[in-house]
Amino acid sequence: MPGGLLFLIAVVFVHLDVLAESLPAIVHVYSYVVLGTGILIGWRFNRSRLIFPILVLALADSSLFHLASGSEMSMGLGRIVYNAAAILLPLNLAVFSLIRERGIVTIRGLWRMSLILLQASIVVHICRYHYFDICNYLEYSIIDTGLFSRISMSQPALFAFGAGFIIIVIRFIMRRDAIESGFFWALMSAFFALNNGWVEYHSTMYFATASLILIVSVIETSHSMAFQDKLTGLPMRRALDEALLKLEDCYTVSMLDIDYFKKLNDRYGHDVGDQVLHMVASKLSRVSGGGKTFRYGGEEFTIIFPGKFMDEVIPRLEQLRKEIELSNFVVRIRSRSRAKSQNSKAIKSPQKKVSTTISIGVAERNARHTSPHQVVKAADKALYRAKKAGRNRVSA
Ligand code: GH3
Ligand code: MG
Ligand code: MG
Repeated sequence: MPGGLLFLIAVVFVHLDVLAESLPAIVHVYSYVVLGTGILIGWRFNRSRLIFPILVLALADSSLFHLASGSEMSMGLGRIVYNAAAILLPLNLAVFSLIRERGIVTIRGLWRMSLILLQASIVVHICRYHYFDICNYLEYSIIDTGLFSRISMSQPALFAFGAGFIIIVIRFIMRRDAIESGFFWALMSAFFALNNGWVEYHSTMYFATASLILIVSVIETSHSMAFQDKLTGLPMRRALDEALLKLEDCYTVSMLDIDYFKKLNDRYGHDVGDQVLHMVASKLSRVSGGGKTFRYGGEEFTIIFPGKFMDEVIPRLEQLRKEIELSNFVVRIRSRSRAKSQNSKAIKSPQKKVSTTISIGVAERNARHTSPHQVVKAADKALYRAKKAGRNRVSA
């Protein structure tokens, strides 16, 4: 969402007449600040998926600025650069949204960098030697229709943007990461940069915003990596510490632990253990009564209930415990030999139903336990009592 918001701000900014006079100066500074920030963050976070797209955007922007502005746009050179940028940019962004992060100064990173430079040198080569023939190809009408007549972009460029959007949207649906949504809005901003031909400063504004969107999405992804557990999708200990600080006078904390989880791991393997952990976590996250669930660590979870007394919370936890006891978790069991074989994906792993139970300890804020730290400790002691009393129970 921040990506969409930044894009909207850029649209409003470009269309505001109030800023018309100061626009060139603002945009100039803005584009350099964004480029510098992007390179710095990309370098510090070692993110080639940030640095390289930003370099591609800056490369397109500066070559268009020098070669395609004003009257030069209608001449051969400007048109070639414009059409080449409009075709290559969406394809590059789509590829960067697909590939895995492999660092910058690594063999793969340097390969990627040289592919970007190769594209730039091909465009330079075309400009130098054969521009008129190539220009016709870059503007080739694939479909003979008046539908695209109002758009100044050539049909190959429109198809490249279409393909880019489809790839990025599919990727977003599959991954749902901030970085994928960043690529979507960055592509949208790049489309607006080129949609009306090359419009000085307006286009630069959109290009710089595309880079800014990518920077923000990388920061967001890094933030969620630090606060969110990948296996269960739940917020982690660090997020719990912050949430505890926000609690006020009345609250209840519960500590939950899966029973005999080590045995389950030993019997079915760590992979099945992970699947069970994921499914238990998903049930815990749907707790009623305004509870918020965290992965405390290992197979232990914490649920905090702000504004709730223990009496109100215990029936909800009892319901959760029963639900997990009665659940049959369907897991896929991969035998070790099969996991190693090359056809492991082709052969479907057999399914198995696994059941488990949880023990729960609860404590509320009261005269004895006044700080969140003390309440967590009391809930942990109650959990210990639940384990000692035979497990699969709620203890206060
Ligand atoms: P108890 O009923 O007393 O809680 O017994 P337990 O076996 O669940 O308790 P213990 O703390 O001895 O063992 C916890 C096990 O959880 C040990 C560890 O291998 C396993 N575990 C911790 N984190 C993970 C994880 O992310 N994935 C898997 N598969 N296992 C994990
Ligand atoms: Mg356990
Ligand atoms: Mg444990």
